[in-house]
Amino acid sequence: MSNNLLTVAYIVASVLFILSLGGLSNQETARKGNVYGIIGMLIALLTTALSLDLTTYGILTSVVIPGAAIGAIVAARVAMTSMPELVAMLHSFVGLAAVLVGIANYLQESPSLTPVESTIHQIEIFVGVFIGAITCTGSVIAFGKLRGIISSKPLLLSGRHLLNLGMITASVWLGFEFLTTTNLTGLQALLAMMAIASILGVHLVMAIGGADMPVVISMLNSYSGWAAAAAGFMLSNDLLIITGALVGSSGAILSYIMCKAMNRSFISVILGGFGEQTSPATPQDGEQPQGNVSTATVEDTVELLQTAKSVIVVPGYGMAVAQAQHTVSELTKQLRDRGVQIRFGIHPVAGRMPGHMNVLLAEAKVPYDIVLEMDEINEDFPQTNVVLVIGANDTVNPSALENPQSLIAGMPVLEVWKADCVVVMKRSMASGYAGVENPLFYKDNTRMLFGDAKKNLDAIVAKFAQPSEETPNFRHPAKVA
Ligand code: NDP
Repeated sequence: MSNNLLTVAYIVASVLFILSLGGLSNQETARKGNVYGIIGMLIALLTTALSLDLTTYGILTSVVIPGAAIGAIVAARVAMTSMPELVAMLHSFVGLAAVLVGIANYLQESPSLTPVESTIHQIEIFVGVFIGAITCTGSVIAFGKLRGIISSKPLLLSGRHLLNLGMITASVWLGFEFLTTTNLTGLQALLAMMAIASILGVHLVMAIGGADMPVVISMLNSYSGWAAAAAGFMLSNDLLIITGALVGSSGAILSYIMCKAMNRSFISVILGGFGEQTSPATPQDGEQPQGNVSTATVEDTVELLQTAKSVIVVPGYGMAVAQAQHTVSELTKQLRDRGVQIRFGIHPVAGRMPGHMNVLLAEAKVPYDIVLEMDEINEDFPQTNVVLVIGANDTVNPSALENPQSLIAGMPVLEVWKADCVVVMKRSMASGYAGVENPLFYKDNTRMLFGDAKKNLDAIVAKFAQPSEETPNFRHPAKVA
């Protein structure tokens, strides 16, 4: 393939990637955005393959075909709730690829380079391996935390900032050593830095706990983009540089938006600690929520909904686990048909990945115009009759605003308790991802509807489908200690 044709194909693919990102920024255009991305990636893959030497085709097919097959099987099988883990794992592959490309590039002699070009090339390699190693191990830890293999509690070693600083200083020093070497003698320095950066990646992500993980995921997404861009520089592949820069910058913008939404400092995230805190804030005995828990039955909930004029649904991770979005959509239709104003309140970190709830609700065909962001709906709770909290926990936890010792202190939450009545659908009194007790469950106007969210919603929808006289009269919820 001629160089001109390759350049044109790369430009077309780059434009498609930009259109894809533009499309993904909005629910109505997200599907189109995905299609642009797929076409762009196909063009990128085909033109890159066609530009290669024929002799490399054997190696290429021996890795691309099994890789594509494994990718397709994994993507087809993965449950929506496990998607963030898959994404974290894929980020680690990008990091690993950057490390391997860097080392291979270094070992490959490039005699045609001038001394200046050679130094620039060595810097590319060093930086690429550094970012790649942090991304790789950091993403593996993020995978473990999301999967629950590693505790979501932050590991806050004393002097951890000094430790991080020490590792960065050692890497910079090794960088100078690496640049002063010739004839592959810098391999030791490169591998030593790789080991240090790998530990740094582990330590940075281990230090982040509970509710702050979403920002880390988007930050690692950004790092994986920069790692890909660095690999692009090493391989002199313009498209890889552009794609990496797009992923890197969009991930960084997303992290910034999420930091703002969660009231966290962007700089402290980059430095791997939200860390003014020096010890994990575990609830003390005196801080355990006080009060009684009121339970409700399906019939009570139906009765509440029947008399409500305005309802807000707050979905969370539990709705994704229960796969209850279609039933929620059905209930929405039933209530709208009865003239009830029903809307959805979406917390920026609800679920386990950015936009998780929006994706599920769009899949279930809930109208976009009644799905509102936290900032758009938070002021409306005091004028709302009933809030249905469906498998949400941390994102509706008042301790974020009321308890400065809480692990999620300072994080804005959906202030559901300000409504006349809140029905919380979950299976038990267990805490959410951040492992923080939730005083909402003990408030006077909260009723707990225990059980699988889908089963309970199915029962509620079935009751609404029955003729109205068959709905039993509302009984006051039982009080349990
Ligand atoms: P939470 O993780 O706080 O709580 C989910 C609740 O769902 C649990 O308390 C659980 O209670 C309940 N649940 C689980 N399965 C079911 C079921 N089948 N039926 C009914 N309820 C169920 O969810 P939120 O969405 O409120 O908050 C998200 C959390 O995840 C935040 O801490 C966020 O920081 C974190 N996070 C978010 C990411 C993102 O990008 N969005 C990424 C990584 C972490 P029970 O077991 O009693 O049923």
